[in-house]
Amino acid sequence: MVDQEKFNERINDLVDEAEDKPVRRAKKEKPSLKESVYSLQPKQLEEWLKENGEKPFRAAQIFDWLYNKRVKTFEEMSNLSKGLREKLEASFSLTTLSTIIKQESKDGTIKFLFQLQDGYSIETVLMRHEYGNSVCVTTQVGCRIGCTFCASTLGGLKRHLLAGEIVEQVVKVQQTLDEVGERVSHIVIMGIGEPFDNYDAMMNFLKVINHEKGLNIGARHITVSTSGIVPKIYQFADEQLQINFAVSLHAPNQEDRQKLMPIARAYKLDELMEAVQYYTKKTGRRVTFEYGLMSGENDSVEIAEELSALIKGIKCHVNLIPVNYVPERDYVRTSRSQIFAFEKTLKKNGINVTIRREQGADIAAACGQLRAQERSEETR
Ligand code: SF4
Repeated sequence: MVDQEKFNERINDLVDEAEDKPVRRAKKEKPSLKESVYSLQPKQLEEWLKENGEKPFRAAQIFDWLYNKRVKTFEEMSNLSKGLREKLEASFSLTTLSTIIKQESKDGTIKFLFQLQDGYSIETVLMRHEYGNSVCVTTQVGCRIGCTFCASTLGGLKRHLLAGEIVEQVVKVQQTLDEVGERVSHIVIMGIGEPFDNYDAMMNFLKVINHEKGLNIGARHITVSTSGIVPKIYQFADEQLQINFAVSLHAPNQEDRQKLMPIARAYKLDELMEAVQYYTKKTGRRVTFEYGLMSGENDSVEIAEELSALIKGIKCHVNLIPVNYVPERDYVRTSRSQIFAFEKTLKKNGINVTIRREQGADIAAACGQLRAQERSEETR
């Protein structure tokens, strides 16, 4: 098991050193917020019902109201007694997110800026694909990992999200899709924050959305991505889930990687690659390497050759992501011809590679950009 205190200190110290400035620390205590009812798995709700003098079978009814009928108040749960509805109301929150902004792109992508109960804001994105509707969820308010190309980390980490706050993002997007008779079919845990830095809440979230009585989204339709928190990769591999796994690589050598991602000082590239190999062997599943292309930084044909050599023989797939220009950062987007040259080199070397289709280009498309624009006080 990972010692969370030591783990936090290790990253904080190394990220401090890398950035040469103090990083805002994660709050250790949970925020004093009413627990979201969406944090509960069916068994946990059954336990709560028993403790409160109610019949456990009510849990199935409550789940039906939450995840099939998607009600917005406890009052609407009409087959529950008034007393039970009042107990639920007194113990849990049904709405922890309120919509501040809903931006829709010409291509159907919808970006939501939600406000939490304590006033912080988070982003969630709905993306339309031929294969279905995918929701990109946020796991933390801000992020302390410090990737130099990312707007989400600009103000450091404010707090971890509770599992229910992550689940509710999906429910809110589903409520929007209900208006057009469509369903959320896929989840990517790639929004603001490092999911493995909020591991327990992330796992709880996965259990609720994957549960047949919850949102019932198949494990193979869910992808979790990490910047490279090595001990948690081992822990995740040992969970033996069918969930898709992605690692943000962004550079094929230690020197370049730690310039782009200070976390690479805490967990070196060779340690990361060992953990990835452990994951693929333990689970039999492939890993996706996310690779953000930035002009003149990591996008030359020589670097594509170096990347090929690094990952050769690993059961993997590379997802090339042309990084959007972020005003607060200096990186410039790689040209189309260079993206194709990079892809061609990987293919020539037998690497399975795709280029991520750009979505929502006419709205604040990059992760954390909408929040940085609209809530600049949170990102300073
Ligand atoms: S890319 Fe992800 S891990 Fe890196 S700073 Fe941004 S949100 Fe954090």
